[in-house]
Amino acid sequence: MSKYIFITGGVVSSLGKGIASAAIGNLLESRGLKVSIIKCDPYINVDPGTMNPFQHGEVYVTDDGAETDLDLGHYERFTNAKLTKDNNITTGKIYYSVITKERKGDYLGKTVQIIPHITDEIKNNIKKVSFSQKADVIIVEIGGTVGDIEGLPFLEAIRQLRLELGRDYAVNIHLTLVPYIKTAGEIKTKPTQHSVAALRQIGITPDIILCRAEKKLSKEAREKIALFCSVDIDAVVTAVDVKSIYEAPIAYRKEGLDKLILRLLNVKRPDKAPLEWEEAVVNKIKKPKYKVEIAVVGKYITLQDAYKSIYEALTHGAIANETKLVIKRVDSEDITKRGADKYLKGVKGILVPGGFGPRGIEGKIQAAQYARENGIPYFGICLGMQIAVIEFARNVCGMKKAHSTEFSLDTKYPVISLLEEQKKVKVKGASMRLGAYACRVKKGTNAFSAYQKERVDERHRHRYEFNNEYRDVMKKDNFVFSGINPKSNLVEIVEIKDHPWYLACQFHPEFQSKPNKAHPLFRDFVKAALSIE
Ligand code: GLN
Repeated sequence: MSKYIFITGGVVSSLGKGIASAAIGNLLESRGLKVSIIKCDPYINVDPGTMNPFQHGEVYVTDDGAETDLDLGHYERFTNAKLTKDNNITTGKIYYSVITKERKGDYLGKTVQIIPHITDEIKNNIKKVSFSQKADVIIVEIGGTVGDIEGLPFLEAIRQLRLELGRDYAVNIHLTLVPYIKTAGEIKTKPTQHSVAALRQIGITPDIILCRAEKKLSKEAREKIALFCSVDIDAVVTAVDVKSIYEAPIAYRKEGLDKLILRLLNVKRPDKAPLEWEEAVVNKIKKPKYKVEIAVVGKYITLQDAYKSIYEALTHGAIANETKLVIKRVDSEDITKRGADKYLKGVKGILVPGGFGPRGIEGKIQAAQYARENGIPYFGICLGMQIAVIEFARNVCGMKKAHSTEFSLDTKYPVISLLEEQKKVKVKGASMRLGAYACRVKKGTNAFSAYQKERVDERHRHRYEFNNEYRDVMKKDNFVFSGINPKSNLVEIVEIKDHPWYLACQFHPEFQSKPNKAHPLFRDFVKAALSIE
């Protein structure tokens, strides 16, 4: 039977509960435990797949094709857990299931209510992961902040679960903010006291209070929190600000968090430090040998979270090359207005990430052209591959106004067109080509020299594809088709010969990159960026 860690957040949002959950998972794995992590999201969307990145940030995709919250990306980057659609539970998903059952007559005769029907459904969804993923410890992160109306059913569900599980089988961790007030010259514990009081009002008592703070909390501050929140002093742990998120497991360990959790769960494991992680990740981030500037050209540039996995995977590529990465975030609409040179001159690599809709498209096409003509390493991902194809077709193969039918239905050269299976799709939710598909990599290409194998599996999230009618004519102009899906014959990777490094893929390699195991394409992209003048 799995043991559980429930993680709630208080005081303010954006405290990094996702990273805290992932870092705890990392520490427990370094002690030899198998972990899995679940994110509960209290919004009513069934999944974030239909949400604008400005609303929600990136949509993370799992191998089994679930469109999930971006925290699952942190979980997979920090741990070895293989997450599935079951690892993200939303209010929408819970209600959808309960209402479907009600219509079928499963509750016949009963009034269907939040307690017990919604809360039971939440509990069953959490327990399901314990059966299917057979983890020693399951970490359950509850999204939002204590006090949110919509989070209440989830909190009630974990309150009940904790009771059912009994001692040694569950730990409640509450993450709060302990702010430093500059003018007063001191830290304040009151918000934490209020937040814990709110939690206790609904019947949840934290076992551990994890305090986000700029500096390590003094013994007095911890004593005060312990006294007012009725926890042991050693259960008040500082989660001190760290420079890189990847330092979090090391920082937590210094505070004895893993030891404490294991004691509360009554699990005995030798006290092993996450040494491999410290050496392979943290030390390399701290002492880079080189530096490189790479531009990411997109339309959600102002938002930190919209290209989360892309930025992380670039960081991993930099770690693998012992390099300090400087990311230049370029709004593609600015390029449309003022030209590529103004924004891209001097950068050593250009990455165009995924995206939807026509805004900023021409700027991205100009960025791809700029990379191709100036011998700057180019990495196109999903829409970024479609952009590379459009640019090459227009400016090298002479197909004037070639386009994707996503942006121009009546183009003479529809080099990117709707997937056959997509033509009949009417609904928006979970209806793209999603999840892992195989790709055969052609020898003698940049893709092969990165992967060093012929068969790879990569995750997808798109509706449009390269139109195979144009394969032969583009080949003649030295456009290389270096990755093909063996079953469907869909183009997965393209390259340009006679260029330092120009590669674009229809899939999302960023979802499989880890700090201690950079994705080969990101590693080689950064390497190529380092080697140009
Ligand atoms: N809009 C494009 C498509 O649907 C690209 C999607 C993406 O970049 N994720 O095919």
